[in-house]
Amino acid sequence: MSTEIQTDVVVLGGGPGGYTAAFRAADLGLSVCLVEKESRLGGVCLNVGCIPSKTLLHGATVIEEAAEAATLGITYAKPAIDLEVFRNHKTKIIEQLTGGLDGLCKARNIQRIQGEGVFADKTTMTVNGEEPTRITFKDAVIATGSAPAMLPDLPDDDRIWDSSDALALRTIPKRLLIIGGGIIGLEMAQIYSALGSSITIVEMLDHIIPPADKDVIQPLFLKLKKRYTIFTKTKVNSVTADDSGIKVSFAGAKAPEKETFDAVLVAVGRRPNTNGIGLESLAITPEKNGIIAVNDQQQTVTPHIYAIGDVVGDPMLAHKATHQGKVAAEVIAGHKAAFTPLTIPSVAYTNPEVAWAGLTEKEAKAQKIAYNKGKFPWGASGRALSAGASAGVSKVLFDQQNGRIIGAGICGVNAGEIIHEAVLALEMGADAEDISKTVHAHPTLAETLAFAAEIVDGSITDILPSKK
Ligand code: FAD
Ligand code: NAD
Repeated sequence: MSTEIQTDVVVLGGGPGGYTAAFRAADLGLSVCLVEKESRLGGVCLNVGCIPSKTLLHGATVIEEAAEAATLGITYAKPAIDLEVFRNHKTKIIEQLTGGLDGLCKARNIQRIQGEGVFADKTTMTVNGEEPTRITFKDAVIATGSAPAMLPDLPDDDRIWDSSDALALRTIPKRLLIIGGGIIGLEMAQIYSALGSSITIVEMLDHIIPPADKDVIQPLFLKLKKRYTIFTKTKVNSVTADDSGIKVSFAGAKAPEKETFDAVLVAVGRRPNTNGIGLESLAITPEKNGIIAVNDQQQTVTPHIYAIGDVVGDPMLAHKATHQGKVAAEVIAGHKAAFTPLTIPSVAYTNPEVAWAGLTEKEAKAQKIAYNKGKFPWGASGRALSAGASAGVSKVLFDQQNGRIIGAGICGVNAGEIIHEAVLALEMGADAEDISKTVHAHPTLAETLAFAAEIVDGSITDILPSKK
């Protein structure tokens, strides 16, 4: 016997995309069923992604800043770290947020089903939960997210980690190898370095965080290369495990000799969860890398089936998932909605942070777009100097033809907050004069973005203007 449910909308997956779609659909008057296999809502972001990583990063930053305060004449004793308390603190934050989602779900009368959902046909989903459930729906939203990509031929050994293993903070390895110099690799490096691990990073491309411009990354890279061993243009050749550790050999022009590590974190990207959810019953064939193709309304080739978030591909970011979730719900409710942002900002929550939005300089060049560039060094910002952040940089690009902002990149304290001014400017079609003449409070780090615009506007006074 299985429970039978009829609903307007079924949402498969309770991550940021799925719960947002479910909440918005319910608020628009639709009956909603939310299917999630885990006991907690929140998906990767709340449980094993954004939130636990930022909680641990906060602890790492406290440790780093306490040590750096020595330059101000303030010294602290070496920190004593109670891993269990640190872990429990992280769990408490996760429980607080996911518990909040439970409450929001209940208040909206959304039917929550725990179990693994599989589409049986174009209007039916079966759920293998504690008791089997059969859901008949009018529209469906696929929000099954993504899972870590792993390298082939790795030994089955619990010293080889994915990001969830790293966030579990079970142990602090003496020597940690991180494969992949992307955002996960660098955020985890910061956490484990602060906790005492010696860090080696191998990145196959020519610089860390490859999607961002190299000159924007530079202040971060210069700091990190003093603390970590970083090999770019390097790949892992072979990985074997024995009692002494994980033995790794490398390939690349400047590749190191074979080395032994106490743990290896594989952080080489993520893959959409599209296997085993019954896509074939919906006449949907995912692309080779597992991505489900959608239009601006988040509709798949089967128009009453929508897909959102990581499962529709890059950028795999929580804020993209939530916005797409709202669009899907609004389209289902008959609203005229589309997911057509001019930009989705990216932030690496490293120390210093790196943030970028719109076109990078290398993308503008590749697209043969003529641009004007304003690049303001934080060494000329009073606030940055006061905060010990003089190595930062703010860069803004403007289209030479119509003068509008097309992109921005920032490296420095709070770059992830400051970038939103550039995002709004981009969405509003602002030019260099609009940003320059917007009065920014002094002394702030946000001023550095306005100063970068003033360079292009020709009105900069805080540094010498460039000769015409
Ligand atoms: P997910 O969050 O992956 O949720 C999908 C849900 O679907 C899961 O709960 C899963 O259990 C469920 N599910 C899957 N299949 C089924 C099924 N058949 N039946 C029932 N349920 C199913 N992004 C940011 O924007 N900022 C950050 O700071 C950030 N930090 C991150 C740090 C780490 C370590 C990682 C790994 C990721 C991070 N991300 C960050 C990425 C972010 O977590 C994802 O982009 C986001 O969670 C995607 O949301 P989603 O709703 O598409 O999918
Ligand atoms: P990523 O794509 O950001 O970085 C992976 C890196 O690994 C790349 O630089 C790639 O060149 C490198 N790489 C791939 N194969 C390799 C190999 N064999 N050897 C050496 N290097 C190799 O992926 P990620 O860091 O795993 O993150 C996954 C997703 O999660 C991303 O989409 C990211 O946006 C998201 N995320 C976001 C945040 C944030 O917003 N702060 C934090 C964590 C994760």
